Amino acid sequence: MLRIAVQSKGRLNEESTALLREIGIDVDDSKRKYISKASNFPVEMLYLRDDDIPGVVANGSADLGIVGLNEVMEKGYDVEIVEKLGFGGCRLSLAIPKADEYEGVSYFDGKKIATSYPAILNKFLKENNIKATIEVITGSVEIAPAARIADAIFDIVSSGSTLIANNLKEVEIVLDSEAVLIGSGNLSPENQEILNEIMFRMESARISRGKKYMLMNIPEDAIDKAIEILPAMRSPTIMPLAAKGWCSLHSVVDNDSLWSKVHQLKAIGAEGILILNVEKIIL
Ligand code: ATP
Ligand code: MG
Repeated sequence: MLRIAVQSKGRLNEESTALLREIGIDVDDSKRKYISKASNFPVEMLYLRDDDIPGVVANGSADLGIVGLNEVMEKGYDVEIVEKLGFGGCRLSLAIPKADEYEGVSYFDGKKIATSYPAILNKFLKENNIKATIEVITGSVEIAPAARIADAIFDIVSSGSTLIANNLKEVEIVLDSEAVLIGSGNLSPENQEILNEIMFRMESARISRGKKYMLMNIPEDAIDKAIEILPAMRSPTIMPLAAKGWCSLHSVVDNDSLWSKVHQLKAIGAEGILILNVEKIIL
């Protein structure tokens, strides 16, 4: 049994449990239990505040955790980053009053900076030889300059709208963060096998994301051109149709290029194009 710590509520909760469900692990967090077992896979979920996740993984109370890289870096525990998960994207940035001129990090010399991330900030200031005072506050950091608690802030930014609403501007990005899967690095052989299976399934989920399955009828003499348009995983599948001179062509395409491919294929005579969702891809 492998124990995975995830955020009990908050920004990462839904996507963490959705990811596990996507790879076929039946996670039931509806009852809001602190610990619950998956019904169809040897994992147990531990629901915690995100602040506590790096610690429980480091001390072995959980084998794995899903948490923001920002929390991992701030806590500084000796944990392994097993995989970046591609959601919960944000950055930790320094921001100053909008009206202030900014010519570089020396701006912060002698200033007071409010933050909930003192360890990461302290490291950044040291690396840049800046002597500033750090004022630790745990919430509503963005109001600190207006409330005259501090001159500047060091906080999580995603869209930047909170900064704008508080008359602040982002001047230094210190850390790019996203949700990560962390581990303690010493699993029993059985649990290592469970983790290997999780990684195998996550890889498949990652590859299938943003992909569509496309099939169409195409004149036989247009096949070469179609193959140029559709470089599939190995090569497109081509099957003869009952109608002479025609075949059916199947391929997997990136969502991003889907519509441009559709137009190119139509231009060489493709008809009856079907586009389907891809459930899983295993290479
Ligand atoms: P908890 O109650 O579990 O301690 P929290 O209030 O500390 O929750 P949330 O606001 O739920 O944390 O954010 C969790 C994580 O989501 C952050 O640590 C960060 O990695 C990520 N995140 C992504 N975008 C944002 C954002 N715009 N603001 C805050 N966090 C964000
Ligand atoms: Mg927290």
